Amino acid sequence: MAVHIRKAAAKLKRYHHFMSSIRAPLVKMLQDLIKIESINPSLAATGSGEQGVALFLEQYCKEKGLPYEFQEVADGRANFVTWRTGRDPDKRVLFVAHMDTVPIDKWETDPFSGEEHSGRVHGRGSCDDKASLAAMLTALSTLGDSQPATTIVVVASIDEEFRKIGARAIAQSGVTYDAAVVGEPTDLELVVAHKGSVRWQLEVQGVPAHTSKPYLGVNAITGMAKIVLAIDKLNAVLAKQDDPLVGPPAITVSLIEGGIELTTVPPVCRIWIDRRLKPGDSPQQAIQEVEDIVNTFRSGEDQIRVCSLLPAWEDPAPNSAEGTKIAEVASRACANVAGTGKYIGAPWGTDASQLSLAGIPCVVIGPGSVDQAHTSNEFVDIEQTVKAVEIYRQIMIEYEP
Ligand SMILES: [Zn+2]
Repeated sequence: MAVHIRKAAAKLKRYHHFMSSIRAPLVKMLQDLIKIESINPSLAATGSGEQGVALFLEQYCKEKGLPYEFQEVADGRANFVTWRTGRDPDKRVLFVAHMDTVPIDKWETDPFSGEEHSGRVHGRGSCDDKASLAAMLTALSTLGDSQPATTIVVVASIDEEFRKIGARAIAQSGVTYDAAVVGEPTDLELVVAHKGSVRWQLEVQGVPAHTSKPYLGVNAITGMAKIVLAIDKLNAVLAKQDDPLVGPPAITVSLIEGGIELTTVPPVCRIWIDRRLKPGDSPQQAIQEVEDIVNTFRSGEDQIRVCSLLPAWEDPAPNSAEGTKIAEVASRACANVAGTGKYIGAPWGTDASQLSLAGIPCVVIGPGSVDQAHTSNEFVDIEQTVKAVEIYRQIMIEYEP
């Protein structure tokens, strides 16, 4: 018994030593990453994109002796890939965190300072998603002699905040993965399911006329108004389709534009529709539901033309990872280190939407809270970021195919 206790105490001491030894370099790395502005150029024309971060990671891997490559995705934007070969090199587990951030709005402090105070690191991208990225790379580079059963591939992806073309490129690369861990701010809770989305535009065409004689024209805005109200009513139907993990699906008309100028009956009006999908919902079916509404409208109006502008932007909801090996291993790691390890769902989306198209079971776990993501006081808790390293490390070591 005494031996058992001594062994447990030694193990605990090693654990605390490891955790305190990684803290300073991890914080430094996170601060360095925040100082590199990597706003998604599709969301703000002045955004620099991800390549500054990718070059920083290249330097990091050179210093740590880790192999790496760039996966070119589009116009000078590349995913950054590094790995540790496993005992079975042909089996792979993917760890992915994204390099891009959303733009900055009204910040009272410098969003790219990476300032540390009160146990937090502040700045754009701190919790979404550079803390997960720094933690995954630290986990990979501190595996030491513990060779994992599968090859561990860490990808720093591009474009998660817009069309997820980085994750799509991973899914379509032909490289197969047993499972994936997506790093996003979950407060170290284990997300096994989240919503997806489908977004598309609808256009109504009327007939222009002088507003002094509006009866000569057909008003596209008033036509669209009827459709918008009918779409909104769908929410009552969707509210009944509750999913135990992610909640009910929802539909929002989130953007509208129409008209030409003040004294012309508007000949055109366009809306954007954002439909949130629960696991199992098909994007095509969601579009069809709106088509049905439009068809009802069409039958009452002969002068107005309505059409959906397709293809839609599709990010399906991944199948729940409940019951998969990766969820079991991740749950144990969470319960060992932090959080509850309980399976939860989330209303937002991640790179997992695209990865799931390749049939890869995905869990999402990472430091920081989604409440700070995309806000003008974004920060991440350092203690959680350190614990994330240990959670990722345990998953890397414990996962057996
Ligand atoms: Zn994110």
